[in-house]
Amino acid sequence: MSDVVPFNLPTLAGRELEYIREAIANSHLSGNGPFAARCAEWLMRRTGTRKAFLTPSCTTALEMAALLGGCGPGDEVIMPSFTFSSTANAFVLRGATPVFVDIRADTLNLDERQVEAAVTARTKAIAPVHYAGVSCEMDALMDIARRHRLLVIEDAAQGILSSYRSRPLGAIGQLGAISFHETKNIICGEGGALLVNEESLLERAEIVYEKGTDRSRFFQGLVDKYSWVDVGSSYPLSEMNAAFLWAQLERADTIIARRREIWETYHRGLADLEARELIRRPVIPDGCEQNGHIYYLLLRPGARREDFIAALGRLGVRAVFHYVPLHSSAAGRRYGRADGPLPVTDDLSERLVRLPLWHGLEDATVARVIEAVHRVLQPSAT
Ligand SMILES: *Cc1c(COP(=O)(O)O)cnc(C)c1O
Repeated sequence: MSDVVPFNLPTLAGRELEYIREAIANSHLSGNGPFAARCAEWLMRRTGTRKAFLTPSCTTALEMAALLGGCGPGDEVIMPSFTFSSTANAFVLRGATPVFVDIRADTLNLDERQVEAAVTARTKAIAPVHYAGVSCEMDALMDIARRHRLLVIEDAAQGILSSYRSRPLGAIGQLGAISFHETKNIICGEGGALLVNEESLLERAEIVYEKGTDRSRFFQGLVDKYSWVDVGSSYPLSEMNAAFLWAQLERADTIIARRREIWETYHRGLADLEARELIRRPVIPDGCEQNGHIYYLLLRPGARREDFIAALGRLGVRAVFHYVPLHSSAAGRRYGRADGPLPVTDDLSERLVRLPLWHGLEDATVARVIEAVHRVLQPSAT
């Protein structure tokens, strides 16, 4: 139905097919091809990371990070409960325990003021999630990590080209993971990247990336044959996906500028509803440069979210919610633990609604969504 505003449509930058054809003509279809090299170089240049490894997803990048971080049975990793399952799974797969800490009410990010109290002798790492591409309070988190000798593994799945005090997300902790999933800002179907910012993890990262072999040293001419030297898996991204991704990275600034424009239009258009305390809009702290990944609103306490989303649906607007907090999900209860009650997570995750936001969304459609939200929240005024 042309009348319905979808929640998301994949971004197309224009030259994806051309570059995929070129990749096929190059006869290099597996990982580490010329397009992959270009994408990795772009990521290194734009984030300032030591080394970027393209991966089949952000999920696998996080798994690689957990492995490189030496997380194992008995270790604990501090993270928010308000996140996607992949943040926790990566560590659970290594036998480690996610410890869920509450979020800040303003950004919905890990509350740095509560992190230190959750540190124990078993804590190995902190895994902050930059929700909606808005940075966590990284100075405070890095300081706690330094004092307790913990790794910081950033889940920057949503954070491409966002920054914290001019530092790109994913390149602040020792390790950072980015997503190029179809639903993110810059996409290649399924894809991701691991940013390795810590020099001492680099050599092992090359090995883990290549199925536990020293293949990368072999190609650099440092050894005369390659063999199995450590644990690892198959983490490179296929060259067809890298070709698609290159078409997107070339246009990344334009794509993100448009998303931010849409984000700002929502923000202005919904200001009156916040002034009347019918909703709360997102908060972007000083020093956080965001990438327009998500526009969400928080309904009033006690509001019936299903009814709100259904009413928008009747006006042809597809809105969605997330996340079911990990600490209250079946696997979260089995494999993790909450560091005490998480009242902010419990409260806000039940009131959050995401509005349609994708690159091709037109101004008139954004206006229609804003109008629909007004009609649902104040039916008498329209
Ligand atoms: C999307 C997302 C992931 C997973 O990314 P994939 O590339 O789909 O594996 C992980 N964490 C967060 C916070 C995400 O938003």
